[in-house]
Amino acid sequence: MHDIFDLAESRVRSYCRSFPALFTRAIGHQVFTEDGRCLTDLLTGCGALNYGHNNPTLKRAVLDYLAHDGIVQAMDLHTEAKAAFLRRFRRVILEPRGMPHRVMFTGPTGTNAVEAALKLARKATGRATIVAFTGGFHGMTLGALAATANRDKRRGAGQPLPGVLRLPFDGYGTADMLDFLERAIEDPGSGIDAPACFLVETVQGEGGLRAASADWLLRVQALAERSGALLAIDDIQAGCGRTGSFFSFEPFGLKPDLVCLSKSIGGIGLPMALLLIEPSRDVWEPGEHNGTFRGNNLAFVAAEAALGYWEDRAFQDDLAQKIDILDDRLEAIAARWPEHVAGLRGRGFMRGLVLQGPGTAALVSRQLFARDVIAETCGPDDEVLKLLPPLTIPIDALTQALDTIEDVIAGLASVELAAAR
Ligand SMILES: *Cc1c(COP(=O)(O)O)cnc(C)c1O
Repeated sequence: MHDIFDLAESRVRSYCRSFPALFTRAIGHQVFTEDGRCLTDLLTGCGALNYGHNNPTLKRAVLDYLAHDGIVQAMDLHTEAKAAFLRRFRRVILEPRGMPHRVMFTGPTGTNAVEAALKLARKATGRATIVAFTGGFHGMTLGALAATANRDKRRGAGQPLPGVLRLPFDGYGTADMLDFLERAIEDPGSGIDAPACFLVETVQGEGGLRAASADWLLRVQALAERSGALLAIDDIQAGCGRTGSFFSFEPFGLKPDLVCLSKSIGGIGLPMALLLIEPSRDVWEPGEHNGTFRGNNLAFVAAEAALGYWEDRAFQDDLAQKIDILDDRLEAIAARWPEHVAGLRGRGFMRGLVLQGPGTAALVSRQLFARDVIAETCGPDDEVLKLLPPLTIPIDALTQALDTIEDVIAGLASVELAAAR
């Protein structure tokens, strides 16, 4: 069954190695395999499916658009679908949050939105250095990869990746490097020049689900301001409601110059990426960051329909309630099994269980998969079990998945006790 993939596909493939099955259909939080299994998806395309697989409302909009021969590929030509998305995005997302930002449609992947952010920050400031943080993940193309912390991922480049100054993320060690950098930038003898931008995730998706505090993020913002650098928030994974609010930085009163969005912005898993640009920073010349696939109009249609959720108080209340349920349950699991759970990470519907001992998180992930729950691991040593339920998951499906997770963790106890005897 899987012969064709071994035979024909590059060794580079990754997620499929953790979840060996042949997937056929998917709806909401459920995915189906050709041998008749139905699994609960807590991976959700790494946050690209916040509104669930084949969300009926979004799917209807896409099907209607296609049925009427709506233009699908238009590069950056003006289209009805793009106009509708831009209007609703301003009305529902930007204006209520006091954000004057312009929308730049980049190539359709997250990494391209990051590339655009880095290029624009360098062009706007005339400076080269990007400040990025330990544990950060920003994508796989050379510019974004330079800002990505993971050594194995950077090694894939096969060449030096210059232009990045790495600083400790919130909670990493004790040295206060923000104070140091502030002093160094002002000191012409320090050997450290002022950076073009600070690129930061508020919750680190791939790097291990560490969540930055409001205090720390505000200090990064203040330092960016004082040093004449831009603040770029990479909200590709943490945005689009993943932490409970549309943008992950909303609760903290941050005012980023640049915001990268991708993953769930396309609503139904269609490729789409945006860079939001504070207008005074929009110094592009026409065509300076082009790309053939900046006009995925099917994605615009689904994206526009998805914004309906952010006009719907009931959706947001329901999400807040489910976040409370997830919080309570994870705290109970951590309290009950301290010998296996070293800690909890993340925020909102973007959570991690740090498991004790090498390989434990991967073991839990494998056992969950055997019991029809898909949950990936993350972090530098794959020590964190990552939970990204669809925002639309019904409460009973969420609690059922959590029951299974607790069961598997409880099972670890008996296996190890048996081994110890
Ligand atoms: C996934 C991700 C990216 C890269 O997006 P791709 O679509 O995979 O290129 C960048 N930043 C963050 C925070 C991500 O989670």
